[in-house]
Amino acid sequence: MERSTIVRVHDGLHARPATRFVSLAKGFECDIELVKADKSINAKSSVKLMLLGVKENEEVTVRAAGADAVEAVEALIGFLENPHSGTAESKAVEHPAQSMPAILEGRPEISAQLRGVPASEGMAIGPAFGFFPAVIDQENRVIAKDAIPEELIRVKQAFATVQDRMNASLDAADLATSDRGIIAALKDIACDDDLVDGARKLVEGGMDAVSAVIATTSRIASDFALLDDPYLNARADDINAVGRQICLALLGQNDVNLDAISEGSILIAEDIGAWDLARAPLKRIAGIICGRGGATSHVAIIARGHGIPAVLGLGADVQRLKNIDIVALDGHSGEVFDNPNPDIVARFERKIAEAAIEKQTLTAFKDFIPRRKDGTTIEIAANIGSLEEIEVAQEAGAMGIGLFRTELLFMRHMHLPSEDFQTETYAALASAFAPYSVIVRTLDIGGDKAISGVEFPDEDNPFLGWRGIRMCLDRPDVFKPQLRALLRASVKGTIKVMLPMVSSVEEVRATRALIDECVSELDAEGKDYALFDLGVMIETPAAVLIAPMLAREVSFFSIGTNDLTQYIMAADRLNPTVAKLNDVTHPAVMTAIEMTTAAGVEAGIMVGMCGEAAGRPDLIPAFIKMGLTELSMSPSSIQRAKKCVQDLTLAE
Ligand code: PEP
Ligand code: MG
Repeated sequence: MERSTIVRVHDGLHARPATRFVSLAKGFECDIELVKADKSINAKSSVKLMLLGVKENEEVTVRAAGADAVEAVEALIGFLENPHSGTAESKAVEHPAQSMPAILEGRPEISAQLRGVPASEGMAIGPAFGFFPAVIDQENRVIAKDAIPEELIRVKQAFATVQDRMNASLDAADLATSDRGIIAALKDIACDDDLVDGARKLVEGGMDAVSAVIATTSRIASDFALLDDPYLNARADDINAVGRQICLALLGQNDVNLDAISEGSILIAEDIGAWDLARAPLKRIAGIICGRGGATSHVAIIARGHGIPAVLGLGADVQRLKNIDIVALDGHSGEVFDNPNPDIVARFERKIAEAAIEKQTLTAFKDFIPRRKDGTTIEIAANIGSLEEIEVAQEAGAMGIGLFRTELLFMRHMHLPSEDFQTETYAALASAFAPYSVIVRTLDIGGDKAISGVEFPDEDNPFLGWRGIRMCLDRPDVFKPQLRALLRASVKGTIKVMLPMVSSVEEVRATRALIDECVSELDAEGKDYALFDLGVMIETPAAVLIAPMLAREVSFFSIGTNDLTQYIMAADRLNPTVAKLNDVTHPAVMTAIEMTTAAGVEAGIMVGMCGEAAGRPDLIPAFIKMGLTELSMSPSSIQRAKKCVQDLTLAE
């Protein structure tokens, strides 16, 4: 019995979807294979399934033989065609933010002793707690024929011990949901047929149990490391971590006891398995430093989820930290200082204390609604780029989203995200912030950012080239699915849409024509949709100068001071040599902001700001006086901005 279909699982069968597919397959007694092109694998092995590398929109065949083959094929084909008919997947665990390492790029060199990948924000200083478990080497012993059955029993028992320990961790009441997902994925590896059978076969051939487990996990891990997907590459670490646990069980050893970690310590490790970390007393850990790992590793996800500053990917340098007493780390810059001198200690302690006191006092402003003296509400909204950041924005007290950067949605994937996936994402965003509005910026690619699925020309001046709305209007095949998704998602809440890099009225009109086309198509298809307000970002000098004309065409302006400053000042925002010129407080830029706001206020449309300047307490009073009524910023600046508006109102 076999059936073929086109895979509709977003991003293909990796991680979570693979686990779900395999557990569905394991529910049937028959033998099941999944076939892609000329490759066929056992559908009950999630490791094999991930390595098959099945992508969305690829054709596969499900082949089954046995008593319940018909039901199995039907259920598995159903999953491949409509994966969401079951439990919703947590995107938070599946798609960790991948843009963190970019923070390092373009930063001037500073005098950190060591530098790694900034993986979780915040600063920490404290006693070092080294987690450097002994390396387990292959013993390469040959097992005598008559001892093989006993060695096989040892292997079986070691796998069972690790599986039991993982089950016990999963049963622990205090385990966070995201950590539970990670441990469940590791347990899946520990139960995987490919791993269990691989080790067993080597032992049957006379290899000792420890060597067999190491050889099997290394083989599978290196297959993962070769895949062209950073997320799946990171799974190689998980396979090795599980292998290590099985070897420890075989040797009757325990890893360094993390329970011994004292309050406020910085955990330092060459590598730490997600399983170990999730079980560690995280409340006592002030920071994490690792030689391995990056922003997409499970360690990074756990650290961010628990608000623990982390610097990962330090490489061999981490060995220098093995025997030190005190360590300081900055999870924003990636700097690490071993045994810092008194000046650095003082700087860290001062900054940490200031941040803690300020954070504490500002929490009083979380639900505060700031108003001008005349009663007009000033919306203090958040800039975010992924659904994972919703909670942080809500916790901060964001009055909606003033800038949802959709680039990340496109950059995280190796193909263009589908219209359905985009619809789901925008709808989730709109529902999360209702009744506040969510301003989604259409794709702003080009300049320094590229995506798969769009070929970018070599340009001498990419920042003055084919980016933002210019590219989108030339590629309706990319732009229209986004506009259709935004129309469809608008039934779930108040979505507003804004266009980046606008420099002419024609660009707005051409977009409206495309929106009209999308509306007619959705009507014809009988799909639900709602119209949204259309606005523009004011980021080019041209847009400032034609602001009165643009104001007649759109419902709102949002001033993008990051680009506006670079274009008004003719100073590349990424070029440190001209960083001094890149100054939003330059009279030319402040005049441009004032002209834009005046044009918007005159036309009676909302004028907001979503560039970095919007969160600056020293500039907020000037912006409010100019007439801006919405300021959108990183969530960490929200409460301070609300206080700033209140201080201004009280002072008037
Ligand atoms: C801006 O240019 O001010 C802005 C908010 O957009 P980005 O920083 O994403 O270019
Ligand atoms: Mg911009």
